[in-house]
Amino acid sequence: MKLRLLAALLALGGCTAAPAQPPSQPRLIVAISVDQFSADLFAEYRQHFTGGLRRLSEGAVFPAGFQSHAATETCPGHSTILTGDRPARTGIVANNWTDLGAARADKYIYCAEDERVPGSDSDHYTVSDLHLRVPTLGDLMRRADPASRVVAIAGKDRAAVMMGGHNPDQRWWWEGRAFVTHAGNATPPAVAAANARAARALAAAQVPMPLDPLCAGRSRAVAVGSGTRSVGEGRFARPADDQALFRASPEFDAAILDLAGSLRESMRLGQGPATDLIAIGVSATDYVGHRYGTQGAEMCLQLLALDRALGAFFATLDRAGIDYAVVLTADHGGLDLPERARAQGMPDAARVDPALDADAMNGTLAARLGMTGRILYGDGPFGDMYVARGLPEPTRRRIRDEAVRAYRAHPQIAAVFTREEIAATPSPTGPPDAWSLLQRARASFDAERSGDFYVMLRPHITPIAAPGSGSVATHGSPWDYDRRVPILFWRRGMSGFEQPMAVETVDIMPTLAALIRLPLAPGSVDGRCLDLDPGPESTCPSP
Ligand SMILES: [Zn+2]
Repeated sequence: MKLRLLAALLALGGCTAAPAQPPSQPRLIVAISVDQFSADLFAEYRQHFTGGLRRLSEGAVFPAGFQSHAATETCPGHSTILTGDRPARTGIVANNWTDLGAARADKYIYCAEDERVPGSDSDHYTVSDLHLRVPTLGDLMRRADPASRVVAIAGKDRAAVMMGGHNPDQRWWWEGRAFVTHAGNATPPAVAAANARAARALAAAQVPMPLDPLCAGRSRAVAVGSGTRSVGEGRFARPADDQALFRASPEFDAAILDLAGSLRESMRLGQGPATDLIAIGVSATDYVGHRYGTQGAEMCLQLLALDRALGAFFATLDRAGIDYAVVLTADHGGLDLPERARAQGMPDAARVDPALDADAMNGTLAARLGMTGRILYGDGPFGDMYVARGLPEPTRRRIRDEAVRAYRAHPQIAAVFTREEIAATPSPTGPPDAWSLLQRARASFDAERSGDFYVMLRPHITPIAAPGSGSVATHGSPWDYDRRVPILFWRRGMSGFEQPMAVETVDIMPTLAALIRLPLAPGSVDGRCLDLDPGPESTCPSP
């Protein structure tokens, strides 16, 4: 144990007097994505963490990490973390896009589906890596050394797909009552046991969690929408078998980490002949944020519970004596619900005008242009919009121009860019906090999948016109509250540091590749290696 610690210290430049030693490679990469864990939430709570997040806060801390693209949704965000590429290269431009050339009636395509499966649609789909255009770190590790094992576990299928890549040894995601995998794959005993524990937890009713003083200070009711419902004082009480409430509670992350720990142990990941990788998507923070917003007792209880659960997970790796390296980040940030934001110093926070929804705009345009049938497609009131096909090009152009004009004229719209404008913009370089809106749009533009134009709402406009019980707040904008996420690296024995300048989540993959000596061809990824050594040594390859 002591020898290993010494080796790690030497490897990380903790003792500069020693002769140059090849740095040891970690035996296990643990890549964690906390869904919707914004840089703002990290800043708000980091002083209060005592468990796993406290430990990571003492490593190499990049508090201004950027999911630098405009489409700050779960699927694009997860696609950047272990590929080193922005969505413009991963091809994952949104959670759902429109393919008007699709053979089936449903023209919406879910990012992690295989739409070629007969009878499927974007709601009832076969989970697949089909749309991910690039390899992940795990894919490259397995290509370089077939003895490397790759495991992906997440609350959401799209997180498990985008982080696990094209050919993981095991991939599991939650489907209502249990963790599931691709059809035809066996269920290892460790997964069956973890599923049995999760089923028992779900079947039992939950009493309210105790409210510690920190969260008590944030516990205040705020009326949502028309005022029939309030959030802010929740403590995760739950009737037996309520799947939606289970998912939006610390219980869900506990189940995900339980499965990750069980599978890690049974496969002896980190104890084999080659470096292994386990990617974990803890998804409850996102469901809590959508259901209750980010600034109430609910998010406070959730983050403190996640901190404890991560601490317990790392303790199991410590007990096994594994030399592991951790990276933790998020797929996007988030914004609190406008009703509470207005009460707390942000009078311009508002819900979106329902007239901006693609369906409503379709009706407005059709009436204005004297047309019938569907002429405009989109997934909500912002993002990619598509003009119907099968019309003469001058007609399509007329519809597009009229739609762009209508959106631009609305007071809740910040910008609208046509696909020609976005395509003509070079792939952005330089610090992502200085990018223009057009550059942000370019970073999640794919010529085949992106729309005819892209709509951006003004800051503090929540794109949920009528809040339902599962969704009062959200993310998805090009604004920094949705782009900024923490990026935390940790390995036992490393000297930590804090780098406040802006970096990108696409930098994670080349940084980890360097740690395990996996060579990357120059220019093969968008990201760059971040030097995790605080002194003159470097963990990155020499240029
Ligand atoms: Zn997400």
